[in-house]
Amino acid sequence: MSIKGIERKHSKKREAILKTIRSTQSHPSARWVYEQLRPCIPGLSLGTVYRNINLFLEEGSVASLGVVGGEERFDGFVTPHPHLICTCCGAVFDLPGDFPMDVSLDSIKLSDPKAPESLLLRGNQEQTISGFLIDYQKTLFYGVCSRCMYTLKLQHHAVSI
Ligand SMILES: [Zn+2]
Ligand SMILES: [Zn+2]
Repeated sequence: MSIKGIERKHSKKREAILKTIRSTQSHPSARWVYEQLRPCIPGLSLGTVYRNINLFLEEGSVASLGVVGGEERFDGFVTPHPHLICTCCGAVFDLPGDFPMDVSLDSIKLSDPKAPESLLLRGNQEQTISGFLIDYQKTLFYGVCSRCMYTLKLQHHAVSI
């Protein structure tokens, strides 16, 4: 196959991987993407999916949520938004509505008394900090989703009978 042909094949795989990540709100893992595409792209390997996702992360077309339930999860919607993570089943949801995200993305002076409480450094009082330059923000809330809550209630009910 010509170099052009190989490149075309590569970019086709790349497009399919990006499209799959963007087509779902489930915040998939690389393995999930691989499982979806395996029947349509013969010869696709999990390594290729990982390699392409790393490229998307570098160019900013995909965001990483970090590891949830042992696997790194990805988001095709890259504008910063908060997430709800179920510690029971690993489901990840976008937090709907206008959640107040009032931390400026530019720069925060930690010595500023108006700086958010959580950003003030505690412990070593000797240490002084002049500021902190924020590159990005990630807001994650951990808890139990409604489906797991329902299942837990049913189990509890069964035990108490
Ligand atoms: Zn759950
Ligand atoms: Zn999201």
